[in-house]
Formats: sequence, C-alpha cells, structure tokens
Amino acid sequence: MALPSSLLPMKIQNKSQRPPSMYRGRFAPSPSGLLHFGSLIAALASFLDARHQQGTWLVRIEDIDPPREQSGASRAILKTLEAFGLHWDESVLYQSEQSQVYEEVLAYLIEKKLSYYCQCTRAEIKAVGGTYQGHCKDFHHSNNNCATRLINDSATFEYSDLIQSQIYCDQNLAQEDFTLVRKDGLYAYQLAVVVDDIFQNITHVIRGCDLIQPTARQISFYRILNCTTPQYGHVPLAITEEGYKLSKQNKAPVIDINNPQPALIAALQFLGQKPPALLTTCSVDELIKWAIKNWAIDKIPKKQQIVPNN
Ligand code: GLU
Ligand code: ZN
Repeated sequence: MALPSSLLPMKIQNKSQRPPSMYRGRFAPSPSGLLHFGSLIAALASFLDARHQQGTWLVRIEDIDPPREQSGASRAILKTLEAFGLHWDESVLYQSEQSQVYEEVLAYLIEKKLSYYCQCTRAEIKAVGGTYQGHCKDFHHSNNNCATRLINDSATFEYSDLIQSQIYCDQNLAQEDFTLVRKDGLYAYQLAVVVDDIFQNITHVIRGCDLIQPTARQISFYRILNCTTPQYGHVPLAITEEGYKLSKQNKAPVIDINNPQPALIAALQFLGQKPPALLTTCSVDELIKWAIKNWAIDKIPKKQQIVPNN
C-alpha cells in the first residue's frame, strides 16, 4: 500500500507534488566510458524534447559504481555535450554526492517495513530460476553482508510510452523484489535513478530502449513512495551490423568532439527528423536551433536501426 507523501523522507517530501505544466527532463549518463553514437541519440532526444516544450533540461552523472567508472569520463562527457550544443540548466548532479538522500530513503523504507535484507547469493537465485522469489522476506536478517530489497507489492505490468506506445512488461522482472543496495554495499541503479528523478523533480524521461523493461520497476517504486511518475519515452537502440547494441562494452566508436555536425545530422536522421541538406554547412548552434524548432517526437521510428560501423 502506498503511504501518504507527508510521511516521506524530508529530502524528497516536497518533490512529490509539482505543477503539471512544468517540464523537467534529464540526461543521466554513467561515466563508464565516453559518449558514443547510441548515447548521443538519447542525449539529443531528451534535450530536444525538453527544449521544444520550453522545458528545463538537466544532466546527472550516475557515478555510483566506482569499479566500472573510467577515469576522466565524467568531464569528457560534459565537454562532449557542450561541443554538441547540448547546454544544460542548473548544476550537474553527481550521484556520488547523493548518499545522504539515498540513506534517508533507505531508512524510511526499512522503518515502514517496505524493504528487507537478503543474504541470498547469485547462485542461489539462479537455482530457483533466476528471479528472486522473496526467500528472505520474513527472516528479519540484520544488515550484515546483505543486499537490501524492496517489497515490490505495487508491481506495474504495463505502461504507456511516449514513443513506443503501450509497453507490456515481463511479469517476473516487473514483480521481483529488486535490489536497492547491493551486497557489496553499492547503491543499485533502481534506487538511485528513482530517488534522483524525484529529487530533481523530473517530469519526462527520454532515454534508450534498453531501459524499457526496467521502467516497470521504477514505476512501482514511485507508487510505493507515493510520488507522481514521470512520463517515459524510449528511443530505439542503435545496433551494429552484427546485431549488437552500440555500447561502451562492445567498443562503439566515440563521437568526434572536434567535428560535431556529421554526428548530429546522423543522430537527427536516426530520430526520423529529416534535417535539410543545407544544415550540413551550418554551425552547431544553428543546427540545434533548427532541431528544437522542428522536433517531432511522433516521427521517431519505433524499431532499432543499424548504424554502419565505419
Ligand atoms: N545511467 C544509465 C545509463 O547510462 C541511464 C539511466 C537512465 O537514463 O535512467 O545507462
Ligand atoms: Zn534472500
């Protein structure tokens, strides 16, 4: 059952209600590598959607996983966004500086019996089919070498996506008591992303399709915290000719900060925006200006598309 927002932790309490007309979007890269064409598409789409609606656009660095962080990546990502004319509002929020907020939410969830500690190993979960079945829910473990899991009793199985229409989610994934804090003590993505989207009063989340299924978990977490969910829109993934998602892991080519126009035009084309040929000779700012003015979210193709690796 959702709790009244007056009981929410102080840090996010006032953020749970907002005027409906105020658009606040964000781009939230993890600094595990530099931006590649796939992440440029997500950044550009969220930026253009916000600016087209006279909204605020924020950048949040999701640096909660130090072992996966690449040194210098945060700064390089910000430099790249600037070179591509994607200028953000307000100051950049670093998740590594948000521990106090996460701790407050975690303390609240434990106190309200909305989460519990779990000792299970990855192998044990795999042995029961790969989805966690709530084994530790009634064991009242103390927080000693344990993960923290959310009691996910507000599971969402479908939602309406701004780009992909109605999304039906994998039931097992959607209703799992998912992890908020990992066994190694690191905050999990689902905790940090939802708490910070609430903390920053985000109304619109435009991002890559790789997060289309986990969104169900995020919506149920919002419900448990009794906060208004943002609207979600997922842009198609760019895949390689071999069928792999462009990602830092499969060494997608880093975009060229010294020559942003060709990548910007390719990204606009990918997003179905049909930039006129004469834009190729324009400055980055002129190009972005055209793109904001002519942004049409309904032109974004739904399917993933191949990006030739050259
Ligand atoms: N930090 C995540 C990533 O780089 C994206 C989070 C989000 O947009 O919700 O994949
Ligand atoms: Zn367990």
